[in-house]
Amino acid sequence: MSWIPPNLAELCATSSTASNCQTSAIIFLKLIFHTFISSKPKVYLPKNLPEKYDFIIVGAGSAGCVLANRLTKWKPWNVLLLEAGIETPNITEVPAFFSLTQNTNVDWNFQTQPENTSCLATKGCNIPSGKVMGGTAELNGMLYARGNAEDYDDWGKSGNPGWSYKDVLPYFKKSEDNRDKEILQNNPGYHGTGGYQSVERFSYKDINAQNILKAWQELGYKVLDVNGKEQLGAMISQATVKDGQRQSTNTAYIRPIRYKRPNLFIETEAYVTKIIIDSATKTAIGVEYTSTANNLKTKKVAHVKKEVIVSAGTINSPKLLMLSGIGPSQDLQKLGIEIIKNLPVGKNFQDHVSFKGIHIRLSNKTITTKPYEQKKADLNEYLRKHSGPLSSTGTSIVNSFVRTKYAGSKDAPDANFLFSGLDSINLNSPRVESYYNTILMLPILLTPKSRGFIKLNNEDPVWGQPLIYPGYFKDNSDVNRMLEIIQIGLNLFNTKSFEKNEYTLINSAQTPCNHLTFNTDAYWICLMRNNTASMYNQVGTCKMGPKGDPEAVVNPRLKVYGVERLRVIDASIMPHVPRGCINAPTIMIAENAFDMIMADWAEYPD
Ligand SMILES: Cc1cc2nc3c(=O)[nH]c(=O)nc-3n(C[C@H](O)[C@H](O)[C@H](O)COP(=O)(O)OP(=O)(O)OC[C@H]3O[C@@H](n4cnc5c(N)ncnc54)[C@H](O)[C@@H]3O)c2cc1C
Repeated sequence: MSWIPPNLAELCATSSTASNCQTSAIIFLKLIFHTFISSKPKVYLPKNLPEKYDFIIVGAGSAGCVLANRLTKWKPWNVLLLEAGIETPNITEVPAFFSLTQNTNVDWNFQTQPENTSCLATKGCNIPSGKVMGGTAELNGMLYARGNAEDYDDWGKSGNPGWSYKDVLPYFKKSEDNRDKEILQNNPGYHGTGGYQSVERFSYKDINAQNILKAWQELGYKVLDVNGKEQLGAMISQATVKDGQRQSTNTAYIRPIRYKRPNLFIETEAYVTKIIIDSATKTAIGVEYTSTANNLKTKKVAHVKKEVIVSAGTINSPKLLMLSGIGPSQDLQKLGIEIIKNLPVGKNFQDHVSFKGIHIRLSNKTITTKPYEQKKADLNEYLRKHSGPLSSTGTSIVNSFVRTKYAGSKDAPDANFLFSGLDSINLNSPRVESYYNTILMLPILLTPKSRGFIKLNNEDPVWGQPLIYPGYFKDNSDVNRMLEIIQIGLNLFNTKSFEKNEYTLINSAQTPCNHLTFNTDAYWICLMRNNTASMYNQVGTCKMGPKGDPEAVVNPRLKVYGVERLRVIDASIMPHVPRGCINAPTIMIAENAFDMIMADWAEYPD
């Protein structure tokens, strides 16, 4: 199957005025979709399949692709990588199109359940998640921000040997091919070169991103490498891109070896529905899956000699464990699922939270929208040279880490600011990040106290969406902290950079809070609770922890408690969410876990 773009006719029909469909933005989207719709990479399926694999990896996302590469380096081992989604469509390579693939067939399109503390206006928040080779690393904003050293020291201190900062830094470096000379020179010891994952700064620097960076400097924040010695400050982000194109872990780790290593077997459109576990020995022996290729549903089984590795992400990994009888026994019993092991699977859900932003109006001199012909020229430039505005993500490239008075540590941030461009005519439609006439300032809480949980769908546990109760703003201290973060962000309007460039706060109240006085605590709390927005960094639902940790699902070697030959290796194992973005830490987790697997199966040469 190929990528199916959003249906513009449907979007136009539901937009407030029909004239929206004639805007240059929509006409340009039509051109983009026309250009990319037929892109489908050639795939050769292997003919002679082994009877049993040494390892089966479920999910070819940020973690799964790293593991598939590393494990198949050892030639005697056969590895089967099963991915529910399709092959990566070419459109994901264009940085400025990163939000165009959301709500399409490469997105699981998760939706949270109604709760009374958040996502009220929409009765649930959207949680995009990649359903494609490369997983969410194909849909994400490409920012490379590892988090703070204290995050990993906290993981270590909570009883997880091998996960303190000194332990994980070598794995961040191992994965990395940092191509930024200045970063390498100024931050010795913090970056790697020659790894699979390319990291560089977007070569096209959006004018407004540069102005925002200057404003942070005026407020006293250093411009620094947030992945270096200190994190408090701002920078034009490093990103998982290579020469103007996105580099997911599929592009970085799988493409160079695909069809070259005969011991790597990849099946896409292969949805794993159950881990087969011998109930007498509590040992994972294989998986059941359904091939959805060619619009059919063909049931299949694959068996394993060594381990099943679940890398299906923070939402689908707990789902698959629960479908396989590993989870809260009371919940599973109600669904008639045979219990293999009672564990707190799906609990400890954490995310970076924000709301749908503080709107900044631009003056004519800084809007980046253009007439159609100029956009078309930008597209041609991108297609020929991978350069120009489409090789970047507009204002999203400026990233800053700050601390509020509530931050526990003097060196670690508890807040982050990102900016996103919006074409105000077209607020809810797919958009190209490089063209906008309004900026959204997104104040983000990095250290939430609130926790959520995930359950199986009662009506259709296997094919239905899992029930996500994110718990955003359930803990009132998160609300207070967000109020302070907002005030820190509003200080930007007092800078010369903002004044000179005529960035003005749109100080009319947004719906559904327009009954309240703008810029009062009551107003901001209303926005947080009604227009809540996930900042896409969900973790924690198969928590790593020592024996005796009542919340732990996997041990510090990422083995599922009480089940043999089963590991979870992805963002879901993080005990708490790092103060950065999640892709780089997930890649690090896979690199670290690979060495653990090797040590456990000791036949691998040094
Ligand atoms: C819109 C958005 C923007 C983001 N921006 C950034 C950013 O700028 N920087 C950053 O660092 N992070 C960002 N993130 C977060 C980051 O990309 C993810 O946290 C990370 O990719 C998670 O990796 P993972 O390996 O845990 O899961 P995933 O990458 O999601 O991989 C899981 C894979 O498993 C597959 N799968 C699931 N269930 C099954 C099944 N039953 N059978 C077979 N296959 C299955 C999925 O299809 C998927 O391919 C963003 C996320 C989103 C949604």
